[in-house]
Amino acid sequence: MKAVYFFDEGDGKNRKLLGGKGAGLCEMTRLKLPVPPGFVITTEVCKKYYENNKKLPKEVITQVKKNIAKIEKKTGKKWNSKDNPLLVSVRSGAAISMPGMMDTILNLGLNDKTVEGLAKKSNNPRFAWDSYRRFIQLFGKVVFGVDDKKFDDVLDQAKKNQAVQSDSALNEKSLRCVVSDYKKICEKHTGQPFPVNPFDQLELAIKAVFSSWMGERAVVYRDKNSITKDIADGTAVNVVSMAFGNMGNDSATGVVFTRNPGDGTNHIFGDYLINAQGEDVVAGIRTPKHVDTMKDELPESYKQLVKTCERLEKHYKEPQDIEFTIEQGDFYLLQTRSAKMNAAGMIKTSVDMVKEKLINKDRALQRLQPEQLEQLLHKTIDQSKLKDFTQVTKGIAASPGAASGIAVFDVKKAVEIGEKGTKVILVREETKPEDVPAFFASVGILTSRGGKTSHAAVVARGMGKPCIVGASELKIDYEAGKCTADGKTISDGDSITIDGSSGAVYLGEVPTIEPKMTDNFKTILDWAQKTKKIGIRANADTPAGAQLARNYGAQGIGLCRTERMFNAQDRIGLFVDMIMAKTIQERKKVLEKLGQLQKSDFIQILKAMEGYPVTIRLLDPPLHEFLPNPEELANKLRKLEEQNATSEINKTKTVLERARDLAEINPMMGHRGVRVGITYPEIYEIQIRAVFEAAAELAKQKVDARPQIMIPQVSSIAELNHIKRIYDEIKSEMQKKYGRKFKINFGTMIEVVRAALTANELAHTAEFFSFGTNDLTQATFSFSREDAEGKFLPEYLEKELLETSPFQSLDVNGVGSLMKIGISSGRSIKPNLEVGICGEHGGDPKSIKFCHHSGLNYVSASPHRIPIAIVAAAQAALEKSSKKPSKKPKSKKKAKKKAKRR
Ligand code: ADP
Ligand code: MG
Ligand code: MG
Repeated sequence: MKAVYFFDEGDGKNRKLLGGKGAGLCEMTRLKLPVPPGFVITTEVCKKYYENNKKLPKEVITQVKKNIAKIEKKTGKKWNSKDNPLLVSVRSGAAISMPGMMDTILNLGLNDKTVEGLAKKSNNPRFAWDSYRRFIQLFGKVVFGVDDKKFDDVLDQAKKNQAVQSDSALNEKSLRCVVSDYKKICEKHTGQPFPVNPFDQLELAIKAVFSSWMGERAVVYRDKNSITKDIADGTAVNVVSMAFGNMGNDSATGVVFTRNPGDGTNHIFGDYLINAQGEDVVAGIRTPKHVDTMKDELPESYKQLVKTCERLEKHYKEPQDIEFTIEQGDFYLLQTRSAKMNAAGMIKTSVDMVKEKLINKDRALQRLQPEQLEQLLHKTIDQSKLKDFTQVTKGIAASPGAASGIAVFDVKKAVEIGEKGTKVILVREETKPEDVPAFFASVGILTSRGGKTSHAAVVARGMGKPCIVGASELKIDYEAGKCTADGKTISDGDSITIDGSSGAVYLGEVPTIEPKMTDNFKTILDWAQKTKKIGIRANADTPAGAQLARNYGAQGIGLCRTERMFNAQDRIGLFVDMIMAKTIQERKKVLEKLGQLQKSDFIQILKAMEGYPVTIRLLDPPLHEFLPNPEELANKLRKLEEQNATSEINKTKTVLERARDLAEINPMMGHRGVRVGITYPEIYEIQIRAVFEAAAELAKQKVDARPQIMIPQVSSIAELNHIKRIYDEIKSEMQKKYGRKFKINFGTMIEVVRAALTANELAHTAEFFSFGTNDLTQATFSFSREDAEGKFLPEYLEKELLETSPFQSLDVNGVGSLMKIGISSGRSIKPNLEVGICGEHGGDPKSIKFCHHSGLNYVSASPHRIPIAIVAAAQAALEKSSKKPSKKPKSKKKAKKKAKRR
């Protein structure tokens, strides 16, 4: 087994074998960049180490010795020498960067003899003894597990004794004392003399690195971040000859990004420290300087740094994050990796690198993380101001963006003052459809219950309003008009800020940063639009939502929920009247008015989406969702009775009766969707008619409106045909009335398992399918999503019984299989059947990938996720085409060859 790779032997791409750090060091060595000579002990050896009862195989030690000799040759320094000693660092490094692993040991190889050699050779005893004390401290801490504080105390005492402030001011004499004390600390801890033989030191250090792989910190980190064995299996060990940044004022150590990770500006960005070593820059012992000042302080090294950064980018085609050390003017690289950047930085660098011809457009799109773009689409908290504010609690980040306003617990009050222009944050235990008017009137929503797909979360996301749900610490007392968490109180009218991107709730008005659609972002979206294959539509129920989605690049509306319109302030009363109507005639009269209102809504939305399809879904939720809940009504009734308010009492009583009448044990599987349409046909009739009327009106105005009508919750062709007959009647009535033909497609949602399984039957009548994957997921798992998210789902995720919530990312194996059945059997009847998806999954990049590969025509996502969806769709398209060329040409060639042979 080749256990050890000298840096010039390693392949920079083999991160699994060499670890990320090792692969980087090998690659840079191959590029002839100034990397101190060294070698990597592979992750395979780490595995062997554990198989071998935590012992290093003999052959590994032999190979290590050979490679040390190789370093000696390259550097001219000698291992364990009293004249010119070779010192090394021992560093861990797994396939992916992983905090929690062992700390690096620097200056290994020092002992009482070699320290004198280092002093003599460098003509700088202070430096030698500074290196020695650093070595013992790191070795003691990392290998022996000595508490760091013991060393710090000694160092502090030494500074006091010599009356200096800074480590770098300690003189040789003080450092000699520190070294002697440090050794005593270690010896007391282990009961053994401190190891003096450099090979002993090295072996102990290597073993300590391997052992840290299974250390608690590392195991927990891997667990938390789902780093499985196929991602990183064991750590490598890097042994690197030392470059000394602590050799005087012409020496330094630093960390830089090749481009600014905050905004992507093409200018190196980072910090350095003169006369320092290793982690001093990040440790905060001294305040590091901005790398720009290096231009004056160490001009030659600065030039080299800039050149090196350019070189690395040219090679990796990705901004880098590097570590360097300058030893008496000589520049050394100690690490490189792809720079982590925020969304703005990623966008700008993508566009810039294409302009610089460093990468092509495909790569520019592929390197983005679609989810990250969310940052650019919402107001964000000004992080720099956060320190002045108190965090009250943290809930589930349900709809991104930051908002400040006054806390209001009462729905009616929120509507009243919100509509007058006061910025309101609605604070509730949970929300119901009847609360929707308050959503319109509020700038943000905070609930103490519910999960990411609770009513509050879904509605807020649809409107693009910041929302936090499930802030379970928050105890709300509606009566007293206040809530408390963690000993802090928010009273009705107090100003608060919610960060829907992180879930944090703050007291007071935290300053925010406005989102802006930069030219670079527009450029990226433009490239993505041209690259993607699958259509992107929006879930939008308001003209404003439709307009926003269109501005972001949506090409149509995949889901327009009509119930949202009934929830608007001026409608809900009418809708309740409709539900309460005692006779059909009475109901029809109210419906007539509602129909007029719907018509005008449709007109506006269709106008906003002119030229693109708009899928209008008929009423879906059960009727009782529009009434106050029975418990609240009963409370109200009790109070009214106390006050003897007779007329009110009777009204409330009837509403309560009706609400109890309509109440269901399991509303999600209850009287809703097409089931309501069948038992209250007048509701669907009025809605269908409103769509036709709107289309007729827009035709008159010469607007290219393209509505289509969609039926929810369908489980059988009988149901669908039943509604289709109503649709057909209204259609011919309308065609007569307006003397023209209408092209308004009639389709069905596929959100009931039976619908997916009998899609071939449904396809005879349906002119399009749209997968409602929220309900389909519930039905497939038999999980009621609200209960699941509130109760057991978090534990399922924790125990890894589920990788991600199936309500967030499409369950490809289960729900995905049903979808495939639905798609193929639907298209077996109508080969060109339009099939889309309108669940919340439509905005999830992973789910979009699945939809692309399954041949869906479009995904529909909430307006604020449109840019994310467009980029994700482009990536899905590129994935396919980048796979193809490598396979197809081969098979074509083969085919040709065969043909020739014949
Ligand atoms: P981490 O993964 O925590 O960054 P590293 O192994 O990169 O740990 O090392 C910690 C610090 O020590 C870094 O600042 C690195 O540049 C420095 N360092 C590591 N090896 C050497 C070396 N051979 N010469 C000089 N500095 C080194
Ligand atoms: Mg570290
Ligand atoms: Mg590092």
